[in-house]
Amino acid sequence: MTGNNNIRIGTLFGIPFFVNPSWFLILGLVTWTYGNDLAQDFPTLLPGVPLVLGLVTGLLLFSSVVAHELGHSWVAIKQGIPVRSITLFLFGGVASIEKEPTTPGNAFWVSIAGPLVSFLLCGLLVVFNSFIALPAPLMAISTVLAVINFSLGVFNLIPGLPLDGGNILKAIVWKITGNPYQGVKVTSWTGQAFGALAILSGLIPLLNGNPNRLWNILVGWFLIQNARSAGQFARVQSGLDGLVVIDAVSDNSPIVSADASLRDFVDLRTLHPGNWRKFLVVDAASKLVGEVTVDVLQNIPGELWASKKVGAVMEPIKPTTIIEADSSLMAAIEQLEKHQLSELTVIQADGSLVGLVEKMSIIDLIRQRSNVISA
Ligand SMILES: [Zn+2]
Repeated sequence: MTGNNNIRIGTLFGIPFFVNPSWFLILGLVTWTYGNDLAQDFPTLLPGVPLVLGLVTGLLLFSSVVAHELGHSWVAIKQGIPVRSITLFLFGGVASIEKEPTTPGNAFWVSIAGPLVSFLLCGLLVVFNSFIALPAPLMAISTVLAVINFSLGVFNLIPGLPLDGGNILKAIVWKITGNPYQGVKVTSWTGQAFGALAILSGLIPLLNGNPNRLWNILVGWFLIQNARSAGQFARVQSGLDGLVVIDAVSDNSPIVSADASLRDFVDLRTLHPGNWRKFLVVDAASKLVGEVTVDVLQNIPGELWASKKVGAVMEPIKPTTIIEADSSLMAAIEQLEKHQLSELTVIQADGSLVGLVEKMSIIDLIRQRSNVISA
């Protein structure tokens, strides 16, 4: 949720704080509609005052979402998990944490902390309202704020990812079954079911000529999309569980010695089972020293091939394309995606070359694994 569109506002307790531009739309809408409501309910207010109070309400709504996210963040930090960012977007907020809690108990507390903060704020406002006699317009705002915090708590308890209710359910199923992926699987079903209900609850009035529940359709669609991708992601993750990069290294990785002549390189390539255009270059100690592409031969006259060595024409390898053999396959996928690569060069911790791992062979491996799991 920290894509390029989000605007960085600053930091809160050391956590980078972002706002999605869609939030300004919400702020404008709240200011306008609530300002108009106040102007109607309190005709004695001076012109302009209702809009200012509307804006204040919008900003308090904003602060309520932030307080909710800080609830999650506080518990995560207490568990030793750094919080990467807090982002406000159309459907509320997201606190993005560095890694998932390692136990279902910890995951449960991180997830429930947000709704607990919202309900606590609601309770405090109700108590405050019943003891302090505020001027009527301020009392109205304070009441709206109590309702907003209550709604925030309830909305976020819908059991679909990425909402808190989804994460809470996931943690509970994880605790019962001992398997976090099982938790995501169950949450993926409930998320889709609630998403479908939300869409129906908006669609039926719409078909009867009432467009006031369009928001429900949007939320439902959001829930279904996320439930599906969470389910897919869990399948991939459970397929990858326990696998490391070396498990997916190609048997016929293209490797050539830096000492070999270009003539040897051409012969090696002709005899090599794979149709590789790029070969990895190793020194006498099998350490990775560079890479060489077939294209390099085009610029070198054939009569020089016997005397020129691969080491003289190879190129350095970008560090972003290298991964260590004992890294998890999940890490390999993340690296492939992040840098838009189709393969990675695999080395041991001492720098010696293992071979290439291709995106396609990882996908095949996951496919085999998930067939075995679902059988
Ligand atoms: Zn939350």
